[in-house]
Amino acid sequence: MGQVSNNLAKVRSILPEGVGLTAVSKFQSLASLQEAYAAGQRRFGESRADELEAKAAAMPDDVEWHFIGHLQSNKVRRVVKFASVIESIDSERLLRLVSAEAERISKVVDVYLQVHVAAEETKSGFLPDELIECARRCVGLNGVRVRGVMGMASNTDDERRVDADFAAIADVGRRLREVIGDADVLSMGMSGDWPVAVRHGATLVRIGSAIFGDRC
Ligand SMILES: *Cc1c(COP(=O)(O)O)cnc(C)c1O
Repeated sequence: MGQVSNNLAKVRSILPEGVGLTAVSKFQSLASLQEAYAAGQRRFGESRADELEAKAAAMPDDVEWHFIGHLQSNKVRRVVKFASVIESIDSERLLRLVSAEAERISKVVDVYLQVHVAAEETKSGFLPDELIECARRCVGLNGVRVRGVMGMASNTDDERRVDADFAAIADVGRRLREVIGDADVLSMGMSGDWPVAVRHGATLVRIGSAIFGDRC
């Protein structure tokens, strides 16, 4: 077995039943993605439009592509075309753009609203109250299905902070479900912190380096 399929098997063996896995393949070689695919992985996460486009063209059609990076408005067209899910909707303007583009090509794209709870100012996303307000205003959009919340914890060794961040993301998820009953996805947890996220109810984790190694 190669390193990627080895790592994948290890993650799967400890990931609880019912928690989904997005293999974050951004900046990884096509060969690595193919190895993960051969090991049964179908859900991959990419953070750049050009890379998503190239990899979607090269990989089999049954891959479910999740876009997880900051999405600029001039890239919406390309990402809507290839993504099954856009996890990183961080503004109402972007949500409306994505919906309009999806409608234009007769598609409905699943989206998660990204919430910002982490300490780093550089991370994007709605503040919790803004996210709920946006969901209320956007219930009638035809090109998108709001399916849940995506979030990241602070990048810190302070376990209490990471714990509090995941609790806050989970709380936003609960509030979102009061607005949209079937928005039940809680996408949180990365290589360094996913077991904590799972304890807080993550339904989907996004794991990159623990599967593929360091990014090139
Ligand atoms: C890169 C990235 C990940 C994966 O990070 P790892 O630490 O490599 O597991 C998860 N989520 C988002 C939004 C990312 O940008």
